Amino acid sequence: MTTHTITTQWDEIPEHADDLALVEGHAFRTFRCACGASLPDRAAAELHASETGQCTACLGSADEELVPGFVRRCPACAATGRRGVQLVWEVAHGEAEQVITLDLVRGLVAGFPGPFRLSEIADATRLALGLRLGRLPVGPRVRDLLREMEATGELVMLSAPDEMLRGPAVVLYRDPQWQRVSPVSS
Ligand SMILES: [Zn+2]
Ligand SMILES: [Zn+2]
Repeated sequence: MTTHTITTQWDEIPEHADDLALVEGHAFRTFRCACGASLPDRAAAELHASETGQCTACLGSADEELVPGFVRRCPACAATGRRGVQLVWEVAHGEAEQVITLDLVRGLVAGFPGPFRLSEIADATRLALGLRLGRLPVGPRVRDLLREMEATGELVMLSAPDEMLRGPAVVLYRDPQWQRVSPVSS
């Protein structure tokens, strides 16, 4: 039986590498499959992963290495490495976008006069919608909406990043904290 274990190797990363290309564009990597298939670039690696029933985000490894040495569980396939799970999870992401609306989250945030954490709003969302844990990707959807409210000036983030992966340009927050910006009263 042929195994299709796809491995990723880091190329030399230039000092002034484009951070976005590095982290989101999957640049500066070389791909190889145990079966010997030619994988000249990321697109070929993703196609081969898809053809062999593996997650196209982590290429079946279940892990995602954002920068050399920093590995996290693959969020696309719930760290299973499987294409089937990834597809189910994609549908769940779409469903989360439908049911978790900006208005809903804004209403929940209004219940917190002081600072609140992402996890608190995610829990409140599950409670409001009667969703059990793991049913929908609530956290990522709620985070996107809170960032949206931050971008429009409704919220201000209070947390410092938990990880600086490449200076201040590529950072990670685990359970960030925000606060509502109260309208200036005259
Ligand atoms: Zn292969
Ligand atoms: Zn994956």
